[in-house]
Order: sequence, then C-alpha cells, then structure tokens
Amino acid sequence: SHYSYAVLLAEALNNPEKAAKHFKKTLKHQGDHPFASYDLALYYHQEGKYKKAQKYYHRAIAVNPELQTPQNDSAFIIPEIPKETIAATVVQEKEETPQRPQLTDTVLITGATSGIGRASAFEFAQKGYQLVLTGRRADRLESLKGELQASYGIGVTLLQFDVRDQEACQTAFDQLNDLQIEIDILVNNAGLAMGLDPIHKGDIFHWETMIDTNIKGLLYMTRLISPGMVARQKGHIINVCSTAGKEVYPNGNVYCATKHAVDALTRAMRLDLAAYNIRVSQVAPAMVEETEFAVVRFEGNEERAKIYEDFQPLKAKDVAETIAFIATRPAYVNIQDVVMLGTQQASSTQVHRTGR
Ligand code: NDP
Repeated sequence: SHYSYAVLLAEALNNPEKAAKHFKKTLKHQGDHPFASYDLALYYHQEGKYKKAQKYYHRAIAVNPELQTPQNDSAFIIPEIPKETIAATVVQEKEETPQRPQLTDTVLITGATSGIGRASAFEFAQKGYQLVLTGRRADRLESLKGELQASYGIGVTLLQFDVRDQEACQTAFDQLNDLQIEIDILVNNAGLAMGLDPIHKGDIFHWETMIDTNIKGLLYMTRLISPGMVARQKGHIINVCSTAGKEVYPNGNVYCATKHAVDALTRAMRLDLAAYNIRVSQVAPAMVEETEFAVVRFEGNEERAKIYEDFQPLKAKDVAETIAFIATRPAYVNIQDVVMLGTQQASSTQVHRTGR
C-alpha cells in the first residue's frame, strides 16, 4: 500500500517529497522491495543529491539486478560491479517482479529541435529519463541539451541528421551502438506539412519532402531501432500521427496521405511486435500551436502561418504530456491511439474561430 501510494504521489499527484517518505516506509516494511530503492535513487538524483542517489541505486541493483544498465550506471556515476557479486546478494525471483517501467529508460525523440518533439524532451527529462535527441539543426540541439542538463541533470546524447537520408540514419544508429546506448522508447515525431494546394496544382518537391520525412524517415528509424527491442523483448514505439491521418481535408491531399500511412503503420507495427513485448502507440493531434508547423508549411510566410489567432488550439505541451503519459503506463498497458483536438476544433474543417 505504501508503495502504490508513493507511486501515485510521484507520478500523478506531483508530490515527490511525500512520495519519498512512502518509498522509505515501503523499505521499512520490505527491505528487498524490487523498486522502492530505485525510486528513491531517482528522487535523490532529481533533487541533485547524487551521493544519496548512488547509495539507493547500489541497494536497488543488489535487490533487482535487472535495474543495472550502462545508462543507469553512468547516470548514477557508479563503478562497474561484477555481476557475480550482485547475484550473490540477490534473493529475487523474476516472476515476482511487478511490471513497472524503469524511469531511467532511454528515449530517442526525432525532431526534438522544435514544437512537440522539444516539449516531449522536457516532459521525459522531468521524469528522469535519459534522452537521445535528434534533428537537423545542431545549434538548437546543443542549446536544448544545455537547458535540459542544467534543469534536470539527466544524460542527453545528440544526433544531428536528416531522417530522409537512410545512410545518415544508419550512421547515427552506429554512433549509438558505439556509445552502447540502447533505446527503450522511440518517439517518431519528426514530420512536416508543405503547401496547401489542390491535387492538380501540387508541388512535386513538397510531396516528396512529406513522403520522405513522414513515412520513409519514420520507417528508417523504426527499422534500425526495433530489432534491438525485439532482441531485448522490451521497448515502446510512439508515433506522432495527426487528425490528418484520420480524415482528409481540402488541399491537404498528400500530407493527409502520409499521416494515413502513419496510422496504418502504427496498427501494423503493433500486430508485428506484440509477440515481443513491445508496445506501439500513437498520438493523433489536431492543430497545435507553440510549434513551427504552420511556418514550415507556408515556407516562412509568417502572415499565412497565422492560423491559430482566433481560437485556442492545443499546445505542444499538451501533446507532449500525452506522449509521456502513454510511455509511463505500467508495462502491461498499451495505449494504442489517442486523438486530441482543441475544444474549439471538432474536425479538420470545423474550427470555431470565435476568439480565445
Ligand atoms: P515543428 O516544425 O515545430 O517540429 C518539427 C520537427 O521535426 C523539428 O524538430 C524538425 O527539426 C524535425 N524535422 C523535420 N524534418 C526533418 C528531417 N528531414 N530530418 C530530421 N528532423 C526533421 O512541428 P511540430 O512539432 O508540430 O511537428 C511534430 C510532428 O507533429 C510532425 O510529425 C507533425 O506532422 C505532427 N503534427 C503537428 C500538428 C500541428 O498542428 N503542429 C498537428 C498534428 C500533427 P529540424 O528542422 O531541426 O530538422
């Protein structure tokens, strides 16, 4: 009961201090609880009390060696402990381990330099996850890393590449392998709309850019990351779809087609990966502000990009919170699809532009 209450306090009620008290009470009653020490390690790490964090991490891996990963070791700055030493102290049956996601899992977010991807980086960082952030704009990635490390003290690895370029995706993935970083959660977010023209006037370059980014880029990344998940029998892929993947709207033709492809791929991946204990989810938002989506769609035309002023759309943070919620459900729960619209938007074409 103490443990369940502590998790509730930490994750839903945003009261980490009180949660820590109940994690300690859990340990008082059950010294070898499989997760309480680990949760305390995370708590103290987030508080910047690294020595205490390290102490609890030691205790956690002695009880539950599955919690020891290279990423956790470096996060808690711990020297290598020979596996036999840990095994000798362990009185833990695997079947007894309750399913609970590890909060220092590593999340790779494509398109983290702006909008929903950037907001998601903050959501995961706040929860203590390690991050791999990608995008084409190196300066943005660097400043984001600085901000996240200063605020949350988490590990951030940057990979600058274009998801349309299969070789560049492979090179980035090889870099991860060299660093011995395994991806637990892949957020396929990088994407864009370009243009808003009827089909007979469509710009072929726009079409190819959208298809190459939204469909092929997502596939390249999934193809590279998913085999490791299959091998480890653990992982979560979260695709950023759109309401444009659920319905079509005038002049949205190719963008809608790419997001319909994402919708189909989410369902198809789920069928293929369920057997390997891999979760597949997607979030399908309608219009989202605090992003560069409209500016990109209208190629820098700030006037045309003013599409959010006369109603309240979703904010990037709303979508990011949903992505983080999906990722932090217990390991046996797979939220497959979340469709999100601002209250004033009922469909792609029905927006009540009556002011904010
Ligand atoms: P932003 O333009 O703010 O962010 C898009 C991100 O994708 C940027 O970080 C950009 O990084 C990255 N990106 C784009 N092309 C590439 C590429 N070729 N290679 C690598 N990264 C790339 O828009 P959003 O945050 O709104 O978009 C995120 C996702 O949300 C997209 O998939 C979009 O379709 C979807 N979406 C957005 C909605 C909205 O209204 N905003 C509504 C529904 C869905 P960089 O330029 O540095 O490479």
